[in-house]
Amino acid sequence: MAQWLNATVAETIHWTSSLFSIKAKTGPLPFIAGQFVRLALEGPEGRLQRAYSLVNPPDSDYQEFLISTVADGLLSPLLQQLTPGDTLGISHPPTGFFILDEIPDGDNLWLIATGTGIGPYLSMLATSEPYQRFAKIILIHSVRSAADLAYQELIAGFAKQYPGQLHYQPIVTREPHPGALQDRIPNLITSQQLQQHCGQGLNEKSQVMLCGNPQMITDTKAVLESMGLKKNLRRTPGNITVEQYWK
Ligand SMILES: Cc1cc2nc3c(=O)[nH]c(=O)nc-3n(C[C@H](O)[C@H](O)[C@H](O)COP(=O)(O)OP(=O)(O)OC[C@H]3O[C@@H](n4cnc5c(N)ncnc54)[C@H](O)[C@@H]3O)c2cc1C
Repeated sequence: MAQWLNATVAETIHWTSSLFSIKAKTGPLPFIAGQFVRLALEGPEGRLQRAYSLVNPPDSDYQEFLISTVADGLLSPLLQQLTPGDTLGISHPPTGFFILDEIPDGDNLWLIATGTGIGPYLSMLATSEPYQRFAKIILIHSVRSAADLAYQELIAGFAKQYPGQLHYQPIVTREPHPGALQDRIPNLITSQQLQQHCGQGLNEKSQVMLCGNPQMITDTKAVLESMGLKKNLRRTPGNITVEQYWK
């Protein structure tokens, strides 16, 4: 059964008025990159808890979360107000199967995210595993505005450390942005624009992880399945593995 740790907020980053990161000091909390915990706070009508992916590498003594504020949500607006020194509950052990251990080998690994769905990939990319297992890794981050492209420095650092192996491709859907594509992910795949832009094939020999917005996941999965890729299940290994953040 999950237990609760009392964590202290060490740092917050407000990327935009509705996108923020929280770093909380917990001491070591072993997990596998890609897993999530529950964060809990006392709300006006009792304790609120929701799932959040860990952004930091597994061996840190702080835990980091990238969170978007859902305007009429119950917990995320309260999390946004936290400041250093505040406390919050963190469930342990971390859990979840959106991890590289569940992904079969392949020619390349596509890590596709919308919004805060990039979080688990940042944790994975800070470990050696993806680079040891896949010749090419393509990180796709789709957001509405360029200001939502969080963790640019961290990603640039990974790309510098693994030149030619990690390709980062931002997509900004609502405004032009240098270096970014500007369309929905399923359209970019159907038109082959994404594959051409990234210089990588996307086929039955690829592994694809999808994380974030449920509509992106449903639509992208449908396009990939029409191209012959299959859902990855333990009993029938395939190519597509998903983590959906809400319904
Ligand atoms: C495995 C897992 C990992 C997750 N990791 C993260 C994470 O790293 N960062 C993060 O920000 N969220 C993450 N989420 C979503 C998070 O658990 C909450 O659902 C979200 O923060 C909203 O909580 P709330 O209490 O503010 O809103 P609620 O009061 O619970 O919900 C309000 C409504 O908003 C919808 N909703 C939930 N999230 C969003 C969203 N982002 N955009 C638009 N509508 C939404 C819900 O379906 C609901 O109808 C994750 C969810 C899961 C299942």
